Amino acid sequence: MYGKGIIKGLGVTLKHFLDTYIDDIRMGKKRYSDEGIEYRSSKDVRGLFTVQYPEEKLPTPEEFRFIPFLVYDEVEDGEREIRCTSCGICAKVCPPQCIWIERSEDPKTGRPIPEPANFYIDVDICMNCGLCAEFCPFDAIIMDHDYELAVYNRFENNIYDKEKLLKPAEYYLDIRPLNYQIQADARAEKEAKKAAAKAKKEAAAAAKG
Ligand code: SF4
Ligand code: SF4
Repeated sequence: MYGKGIIKGLGVTLKHFLDTYIDDIRMGKKRYSDEGIEYRSSKDVRGLFTVQYPEEKLPTPEEFRFIPFLVYDEVEDGEREIRCTSCGICAKVCPPQCIWIERSEDPKTGRPIPEPANFYIDVDICMNCGLCAEFCPFDAIIMDHDYELAVYNRFENNIYDKEKLLKPAEYYLDIRPLNYQIQADARAEKEAKKAAAKAKKEAAAAAKG
């Protein structure tokens, strides 16, 4: 029959529309809780599967990537230990070349210090590919989940500097717990291997007399 497909399609839309009310009644106030939002973005949802952004937000999957951030660890007396050594690998592999790093130098000797004096990312150019985080040998740059970066003036606000990019390791653990653990385990294994090799070398030297 001519138009049968259209009627069928409209029927699906109507069913979803009515199912929304059934879901509403069934879930009550829970519909607007985190649990309700998770349900509405799942494959089990019966009614409309939209959320009322920005009042409601979909849960972000761990592997979601937005602008990278730099990780620091809290050490004694609240001091920050920045993981980045300014090796420059991330800047080299970045496809649109939106990372600039200023290296630090010891004012007395003029020799480089393994910490960036400044670190810039042009967030208008970053294409969120995650290569910088993939290649960083020190787990120092990580892809963020924060996607709400709207500003009034992109020329003034969208070149992020070191201070804006730095976030604590606890934040990293919070948004990417699995990745954090994998990297922490790999680091611990590497350290253990290094310590074992050193101990073996020392034992061999001691045996030689
Ligand atoms: S973020 Fe990582 S790859 Fe980039 S300069 Fe720092 S240590 Fe090197
Ligand atoms: S995510 Fe990709 S484009 Fe963005 S800074 Fe990292 S390497 Fe460059």
